[in-house]
Amino acid sequence: MSLLEVEDLAVHFGGVKAVDGVSFSVEPGEVFAIIGPNGAGKSTIFNLISRIYDPTRGAIRFDGQDLTVLKSHDIATLGIARTFQNIELFDHSTVLDNLLMGRHTHRTTNFVQDILFLPRVRREERAHRHKVEEVIEFLELEAYREKMIAGLPYGVRKVVEIGRALALSPRLILLDEPASGLSVEETQDVAFWIEDMRRDMGLTVLMVEHDMSLVTGVCDRVLAVANGKPLAMGTPAEVQAHPDVQAAYLGT
Ligand code: ADP
Ligand code: MG
Repeated sequence: MSLLEVEDLAVHFGGVKAVDGVSFSVEPGEVFAIIGPNGAGKSTIFNLISRIYDPTRGAIRFDGQDLTVLKSHDIATLGIARTFQNIELFDHSTVLDNLLMGRHTHRTTNFVQDILFLPRVRREERAHRHKVEEVIEFLELEAYREKMIAGLPYGVRKVVEIGRALALSPRLILLDEPASGLSVEETQDVAFWIEDMRRDMGLTVLMVEHDMSLVTGVCDRVLAVANGKPLAMGTPAEVQAHPDVQAAYLGT
């Protein structure tokens, strides 16, 4: 069974058909990319999957479960984490605190247990810190652990944004333009991390990306969209060679 299934998905904002009849499915362990010109509806597809927007029509299933009946905060608990194209971190907190805040959806203890600081609470707290330290090591963020987000270079903030999602221990990670604004070397790091997420963490990756070298390098399959509509789906080479895809890029 596919891990994620999207079927005839659509959302209309007034007269704007931001997403209009998009279907695809992502297999467990797959790295899948959505590409397309600016304004094609890519981020909107992420916002529909993460339940920020209600679809006008269509189905979204994760591990066979209907996501459209769930609230946004349930999505992370189910095992789906995402990054945002415009980086959504707490600027006046440290890297460590931003990553720990990501873990809050995993809390199972309640307020009374917290004040009594029961062994179970201490155990959970240790598990949170352990996971976060693992993410810091994985993304080589040791030097920035206690640094405030606001003072960090863009490239580092971009990595912390990926870390915030990884700290949730997701099964599916949605990366919205992870390489945008990064140098060639930084983009290469992102490519290695994506490979490791799949291989070492057993993650499934759904990404939106403009950098075709990254897409070609790490993705199994690609869906191209334009004006909210699907254009082509297949391997990166097949999709890039598709006449409708070439026309969509040349036309912008
Ligand atoms: P991209 O492929 O660049 O990520 P988006 O998904 O951000 O594109 O946007 C697709 C279209 O949907 C754009 O025309 C955008 O203006 C429109 N759109 C996205 N969100 C909203 C919203 N909340 N209200 C109105 N229009 C929106
Ligand atoms: Mg976008």
